[in-house]
Amino acid sequence: MPELPEVEVVRKSLHEKIKQKKIKKVIVRNRNLRIKIPLDFESFLRDQKVIKIDRFSKYLIFHLSNNSYCLIHLGMSGTIHLIDLNKQNHLTNTSFYHSPILPPKHNHIEIIFEKSKIIYNDPRRFGFFQIIKNLSLLKKRLNHLGPEPFQSKFNLEYVLSFFRGKEKNIKNYLLDQNFVSGIGNIYANEILFLSKINPNTKVYLLKKKDCEKIINISKKVLTNAIKKGGSSIKNFKNLSGKNGSFQKNFKVYERKGLNCKRFKCEGVIQKKVISNRSTFFCNICQK
Ligand SMILES: [Zn+2]
Repeated sequence: MPELPEVEVVRKSLHEKIKQKKIKKVIVRNRNLRIKIPLDFESFLRDQKVIKIDRFSKYLIFHLSNNSYCLIHLGMSGTIHLIDLNKQNHLTNTSFYHSPILPPKHNHIEIIFEKSKIIYNDPRRFGFFQIIKNLSLLKKRLNHLGPEPFQSKFNLEYVLSFFRGKEKNIKNYLLDQNFVSGIGNIYANEILFLSKINPNTKVYLLKKKDCEKIINISKKVLTNAIKKGGSSIKNFKNLSGKNGSFQKNFKVYERKGLNCKRFKCEGVIQKKVISNRSTFFCNICQK
């Protein structure tokens, strides 16, 4: 599943290639995505210009020339392919997961511009495209999401008050999009390792300095992951065909049984299922 850094890589590719481009035609082959595509989707988008492409958390936001928005979520397996209509481009995937070239099946939506088109591929169909008519509806739509780690709202006061009296473990909260937006399983594991906190720790037991560490390290890990082009797992490539390289920096993720990378720690990385997700941690420095 793409996480915030990978969606940001997709956003950058799309912004670079389709901003200020006018939509000529839209083709929908399968309306049954996570949210059903309405029958007027094609006519609504036709002749709109894509002014720019933003992102909040794992949502891509196309700003359209009539002051409305197209909100896109890639779900579990969605990828966006960019095809240049004038020349053959072999690598088309702008996004995380699966094939770097356009697969033959599951190409549900095509948005066609004058010289290029984007194709949405999604074998599992957990992703969606949704038209949002104006800014206040957009805000309402994203209202359930907590701040991104980069935002100043994600601060000590916010975290302490959120955790007060809560019984669940910290791993659970890092994955909870109501608490903080855009951290997925890979980065939650890495953040807890760097903070030297056991993923099973109940949040009401965390000290102030633990919360401070979590805040600062969350910002650092995600910023760093974006800089490295995301993490390449199962063939993630960006538009220039390059793999992301953040996976080379993994300290715990998928390192079960290997020695801890922390200087002078003699621990071994453990794997446990916590909140239904694979959780990796050192048995000594994350006790
Ligand atoms: Zn260790």
